[in-house]
Amino acid sequence: MPDLLVATTNTGKMGEYDALLSGLSARLRSLADLEHAPPEPPEDADSFAENAIVKAREYAHATGLPTVADDSGLEVTALEGAPGVRTKRFFGDGVSDAERNRLLLELLLTAPDRSARFVCVIALAWPDGRVETFEGICPGRIAAAPAGANGFGYDPVFIADGYDRTMAELPSEVKNKISHRGRAAAKLRTRLASLL
Ligand code: IMP
Repeated sequence: MPDLLVATTNTGKMGEYDALLSGLSARLRSLADLEHAPPEPPEDADSFAENAIVKAREYAHATGLPTVADDSGLEVTALEGAPGVRTKRFFGDGVSDAERNRLLLELLLTAPDRSARFVCVIALAWPDGRVETFEGICPGRIAAAPAGANGFGYDPVFIADGYDRTMAELPSEVKNKISHRGRAAAKLRTRLASLL
């Protein structure tokens, strides 16, 4: 496999994939590396898996490259699983990560149960339409206040089970071992290694 497209424009996410899939004999390309990146398909399905599959299939078809796409999000027990598949847009478009974190903490101000989990489904699609999925889950809880500057998104307010610091306070090697994306990518890595 010469090139593997990682269908993201999120530099934080791409950096994680570079680390998670390092050492394989495929060269990773992001959407930013393509001269004419096809437009991003809408993420409006009801499950992480469906969103990941649609994205991976469309980019694989449009570029002719085997493509990895993921959909991920945060499920908060006190919010009945929200923001869930709508994590990206839950607090509206054009809202900064810091503001989203503040709004989430505000919603949970009086919640006795702060448990939550990150979920990630990675789809690996081939230009001929074949597709496989890999799931990773990271259980934890929402912190009382934001802390840390690593990672992205909700990392400053999420504490993984077994840790007493937020994901944004952990070194990236630790996050990559325990995160939802890290766990899904470890399964993908095993699969790619068997193919390459
Ligand atoms: P996406 O659709 O997979 O890009 O993820 C949707 C949203 O979930 C992102 O915009 C982030 O707010 C959040 N998210 C996904 N993965 C992570 C992570 O590893 N850390 C923190 N937030 C994340």
